[in-house]
Amino acid sequence: MSVEGYRRIPVWKDVPLEEWETYGWQMRNRITTVEQLREVIRLTPSEEAAVTRKGGRFIMGIPPYWAALMDADDPTCPIRRQAVPTQDEYHLSPNDMIDPLAEDSHMPVPGLVHRYPDRVLLLVVEICSMYCRFCTRSRVVGTSAGFSRGANIDAALDYIRAHRKIRDVLISGGDPLTLSDERLDEILAKLKAIPHVEFVRIGTRNPVTLPYRITESLCQVLRKHKPIWMSVHFNHPREVTPAVKRACGMLVDSGVPLGSQTVLMKGINDRPAIMKKLVHELLKIRVRPYYIYQCDPVKGTAHFRTQVSTGVQIIEKIRGHTTGYAVPTFVVDAPGGGGKIPLMPNYVVSYKEGTLVLRNYAGKLYTYKEESPAGDRAGAAVLEPSYALVD
Ligand SMILES: *Cc1c(COP(=O)(O)O)cnc(C)c1O
Ligand code: SF4
Repeated sequence: MSVEGYRRIPVWKDVPLEEWETYGWQMRNRITTVEQLREVIRLTPSEEAAVTRKGGRFIMGIPPYWAALMDADDPTCPIRRQAVPTQDEYHLSPNDMIDPLAEDSHMPVPGLVHRYPDRVLLLVVEICSMYCRFCTRSRVVGTSAGFSRGANIDAALDYIRAHRKIRDVLISGGDPLTLSDERLDEILAKLKAIPHVEFVRIGTRNPVTLPYRITESLCQVLRKHKPIWMSVHFNHPREVTPAVKRACGMLVDSGVPLGSQTVLMKGINDRPAIMKKLVHELLKIRVRPYYIYQCDPVKGTAHFRTQVSTGVQIIEKIRGHTTGYAVPTFVVDAPGGGGKIPLMPNYVVSYKEGTLVLRNYAGKLYTYKEESPAGDRAGAAVLEPSYALVD
């Protein structure tokens, strides 16, 4: 859709482009009620029932920018599916969990998840521009659970200061870019003042769900605190609009390397052709595909979850078939808090006495002979399909 394509929607036909393209206007005019939603799309009975249902629903909030990308007549539209609730959210599965990654029990102080020795996840805000129906943190996101209050952030900073092994701090939420530039500047400055923090990462969906958040003044803040890396959450090639391209271009031009994170979802991006198109679109806008996540078993998302093999098949169809830079790592974030576990197609056909039989992306077999096939048990073990469990 062209930048001004929103004007085809009657409620917004008189909104000046200068206003439409601001974060403030978009946030003030977010769609939160069924009446507003009816102005934009033709609701199905399932959507209508889910949006009007009282109590227990994960918050709905859709910026007009995102709403204008939704197909008004097609309920399977991937943009619409990510933002508009359906009755499927109430069909609970026995596998559903409230906090699948056991984040709450890995928090030494509220809002700080310390799972790996050298890096931490710092949750600074519960708000997002758009609330994704499959959100892993729906237990806190859009609520007033309050892990991000000022005092908590100070306690988290104290913890990071006291733990000198922490060299990498990943700021997430909610969406950290819903904070003001001033607040971000303050948090980044405090983090960068800690000598052992080598760099900071920001996990955000704003460049995709509301790209007008990326302004020159934000870029100035990010430049000031370099090195900063950013992980941007992209799920479908249709998300890569001219506005998103411009936002990502501004970030990269400000010296912020961009990676993408994608949640694998049934009916949205679970076909290799769609994922391949997405990773190609991302390279064009200088975003390096980083992770594809198996959809976490979060409460009310069973209808989005694919089989795990779907993700491996997607990697199989991409790796070797296209630019190596385009290939993300497919991971299962282990329920219970084991962290991200990568899954790959198996390319080792056999390994015996220093002779490896490998298969390439096209299924052809090749032999590699090692120089010293001497019995290195540990070396052999990492190449064998079943890896010994550490208990
Ligand atoms: C994902 C995650 C990280 C970062 O993992 P990387 O593989 O380094 O990107 C750190 N801490 C927690 C708790 C995480 O969930
Ligand atoms: S932007 Fe991220 S944190 Fe916010 S609702 Fe979507 S998935 Fe959840």
